[in-house]
Amino acid sequence: MAKPHPHVYFGDRIVDAAQATLGVATSATLYGLSVYTVFPVHVDGAGRTAFRLADHYRRLVESCRIIGMDTFAGEWDFGRFVAAVTELVAANDPAEDVFVRASVHVDESIPGTRVRGCHTTVSMFVYDAVPIVPQDGMRLKTSQWRRIPDSAIPSRAKVNGAYVNSVLAKQDAIDAGYDDAIFLDGNGHVCELSAANIFLVRGGTLITPDVSCDILDGINRRTLLTLAGEDGIPVLERTVDLTELYIADEVFVTGTSAGVAPVLEVDGRVVGSGRPGPISEALRKRHTAALRSDTLHGWVTEL
Ligand code: PMP
Repeated sequence: MAKPHPHVYFGDRIVDAAQATLGVATSATLYGLSVYTVFPVHVDGAGRTAFRLADHYRRLVESCRIIGMDTFAGEWDFGRFVAAVTELVAANDPAEDVFVRASVHVDESIPGTRVRGCHTTVSMFVYDAVPIVPQDGMRLKTSQWRRIPDSAIPSRAKVNGAYVNSVLAKQDAIDAGYDDAIFLDGNGHVCELSAANIFLVRGGTLITPDVSCDILDGINRRTLLTLAGEDGIPVLERTVDLTELYIADEVFVTGTSAGVAPVLEVDGRVVGSGRPGPISEALRKRHTAALRSDTLHGWVTEL
């Protein structure tokens, strides 16, 4: 992740990044008991727009509900969230597109492992919108680490502590000379990458693991499914075997920080023609355009 821009949101105001600190004995620090989301802000001169902000806010609220961080919903609503994001981005006045990471932390020191009724603090910071994976063709490796099952740490809650699982897989993939890792579930079905959802194309049909496959319900995943449907591309959400990736015509990944990025190699096997495929490319272009302006779906919020 790129360095945070100098002004950050912490608690209920904008402060210098150095002043936004969580205590050493808080549950956020000790257990990774924080939830978060990351969304893009497009900067065009004086104009600034956030993509699918309402969906990101809803996922943050739902993450809190799943984990039992019940104080957040009493103190925040979408209007307050938009105002905080607007103030934060204006304070940093970025010249180019940025990502915003918004987190809710349990910042109380509690004897034992509990959460209900605990004090939460919101933090947000802005950083340069640099993709976390190559955009011109990725090489992936199946991880020996399995995805944390929804029955252990819920996949649809974006919990900081769960990202140790992603770090293990991604570091091993990098160490082995690959760009990222593919997580499988306990039964060997494909889940997702360390921080992106995965799609394949076979015979003109777009296929992706469904939301019950221990994956994050990615907002760009949903976006791609909508855009594909509008373009008349048949879409299947179902369990996916690893070997289906080996014989796919196209494979690509989606995410706020990953963009829509083509995959050219999986476990040493070339995907399709070895070049980004036509369906991935068409959807990537549609996605890039939607990030900047969208009147059809109401996905863009002016800040
Ligand atoms: N899966 C995981 C595990 C992630 O961390 C992310 C990034 N937030 C994604 C998928 C993609 O989600 P989104 O499209 O909402 O960024």
